Amino acid sequence: LGVPAADDKAVVRDYFNNVGFDRWRKIYSESTDDVNKVQLDIRLGHSKTVDNAIQMLKDGDTLSGVTVCDAGCGTGSLSIPLAREGAIVSASDISAAMVSEAEANARAALSQEGVAMPKFEVKDLESLDGKYDTVVCLDVLIHYPQEKAEGMIAHLASLAERRLVLSFAPKTFYFNLLKRIGELFPGPSKATRAYLHAERDVERALAKVGWTVRKRGFINTQFYFANLIEAVPVGSET
Ligand code: SAM
Repeated sequence: LGVPAADDKAVVRDYFNNVGFDRWRKIYSESTDDVNKVQLDIRLGHSKTVDNAIQMLKDGDTLSGVTVCDAGCGTGSLSIPLAREGAIVSASDISAAMVSEAEANARAALSQEGVAMPKFEVKDLESLDGKYDTVVCLDVLIHYPQEKAEGMIAHLASLAERRLVLSFAPKTFYFNLLKRIGELFPGPSKATRAYLHAERDVERALAKVGWTVRKRGFINTQFYFANLIEAVPVGSET
C-alpha cells in the first residue's frame, strides 16, 4: 500500500534531507567516487537539461539584471551558472540540506569571481511569493502527481512576469523509467513515487491560466528523459 498523496510532500522533504540528499548530491556533483553507471548517465542527462535551459533563457540576449526564481534549486546546478550570467537569482528548495549544499557550492564557485551570490531560502514551491521576470523549475514535477502538478504550474506561472521554464519526465517513458530509476525516488514503494507527465497535460494546466508553450526541447540519455518547455502568457509568443 502506498502512502496517500497528501503525505507526499512530507515524504519528499524527508527523503531530500536524508538518503535522497546523499544520492542526488553525488549525482549532481563532479566527483566520480562511489558513483555508478546509471548515476553517471543521469548526471550527464541532467547537465544537458541545465545547459539547454540556460540557452533557452539567454536566447541570444543577456541575462544581466534579469530576476530569476529557481524553484526547487537542489544543489545549485542551475542557480550558479545563472548568477555567472548576471541574473539576480532567488533560489529555494523544500530541503534544508539541499539549500545549504547549494549555498556552499555557490560560495565556492562564485566568491573568487566577484559574482553576486544567489539568494537562498528553504521554502516549498507553494509558499513562494513575489514577482520574477522568469521562473524556472527543473526536474521537480516528478515529485508531483498530476492532480497536484496543475496547481503547482498555475502557482509558478503567477510568480512569473515574462516566462516560465519547466522540465519534466515525459509519460511516454513511464514503464522504462519505472524499471530503471528504482532507488532514486522517495517513499515505501520507490518506483511509484516518480510521477511522469504527459506534455498535453502540462500544456492544459498552462492554458487554464492563460499561458502557452513557446519553445520546447527534449533531452535524453540512456537512463534520463526530460521534456523542457518555455511557456509565456498567451499573446506574447513572439
Ligand atoms: N532543480 C534542481 C536541478 O535540476 O538541479 C534539483 C532537481 S532534484 C531531482 C528535485 C529537487 O526538488 C530536490 O532538491 C527536492 O528537494 C526539490 N523539491 C521537491 N518537492 C519540492 C517542493 N514541493 N517545493 C520545493 N522543492 C521541492
